[in-house]
Amino acid sequence: SSNARTNWQIFSPEDRERNKLRNTVNWKSRLQEALDADRLILHYQPIYDIARGRISHFEALVRMIDEKDEIISPGVFIPIAEKTGLICEIDSRVVTLACKALHKFKKQGFQEVTLAVNLSARAIADRNFIDHIEYEVGKYNIDRSNLIFELTETSAVEDINTAAHVIGDFRALGYRFALDDFGVGFASWYYLRQLPVDFVKIDGSFVRNLASDREDKLFVKALTDVVHGLGKQSIAEFVETPFQLSLLKELGVGYAQGYYIGKPKPHLVTVIENQTPYLEPVSGIAKR
Ligand code: C2E
Ligand code: MG
Ligand code: MG
Ligand code: MG
Repeated sequence: SSNARTNWQIFSPEDRERNKLRNTVNWKSRLQEALDADRLILHYQPIYDIARGRISHFEALVRMIDEKDEIISPGVFIPIAEKTGLICEIDSRVVTLACKALHKFKKQGFQEVTLAVNLSARAIADRNFIDHIEYEVGKYNIDRSNLIFELTETSAVEDINTAAHVIGDFRALGYRFALDDFGVGFASWYYLRQLPVDFVKIDGSFVRNLASDREDKLFVKALTDVVHGLGKQSIAEFVETPFQLSLLKELGVGYAQGYYIGKPKPHLVTVIENQTPYLEPVSGIAKR
């Protein structure tokens, strides 16, 4: 019918492309506005030291406050920022916010807060980026050991030589590094060996069905053993239940992060929610 024809025309591939482009352009200016108006904020999600039974550090996760004061999650705007080239500006703003936050936490009486900050492949490849970090760290008088940088496995593998090199440079200065979302990309043992990271974060997709899936258990165990054998620490993402946490403990995983431990919040969580007997409340936050 003519109706069906009209529908087909409305959603023609050309239209779709044009829409996508318009959307991207739109988002780019919204992101730029958010940057200019200082409307990027950090939320902090605790990472739990399973053996010691206390918070080890926090991951800083960026959010954008839009024109209607609504919080936009990074899953929406980070991919657009990566496409439009704004990602370096965002990552660099996040570093500044993280240093400011560490400075503030110290003034509030938290002596040993460590923050993990996500970086994109582009930021890593930018020679000026490390200078920006060093500048902010100096300005806010931050101890370099209180910063960990996270880079996804997928980003690292894009240019493994640059990643390995830059991570080495960062570590020589005293920063620590984590390989994020490990296991969903190419996930070769080779990359684990090449990248001089301190932590490997086992992707949440392996943890989601840990309670029922024999193979996920097998993978988490094998990954953890290799990670530890290489002298690195293991962190499991997406820990949502006490049962998952106890399984991870049994499998020997070092650290846990997820909604069960604590959701990302605009302030530091000092007492872990949903306490089980060994999730003891912490008043000061221990570094490691
Ligand atoms: P990520 O670095 O892997 O961070 C973990 C993401 O998983 C966060 O989403 C967190 O809220 C979510 N999460 C944590 N625990 C659970 C859980 O138990 N269940 C479920 N379903 N989800 C959980 P978020 O904050 O939306 O961030 C998404 C991604 O955006 C991050 O993934 C990271 O790759 C990226 N990102 C965030 N902040 C920055 C940043 O400042 N710079 C860059 N380049 N990327 C960032
Ligand atoms: Mg991360
Ligand atoms: Mg992750
Ligand atoms: Mg993830």
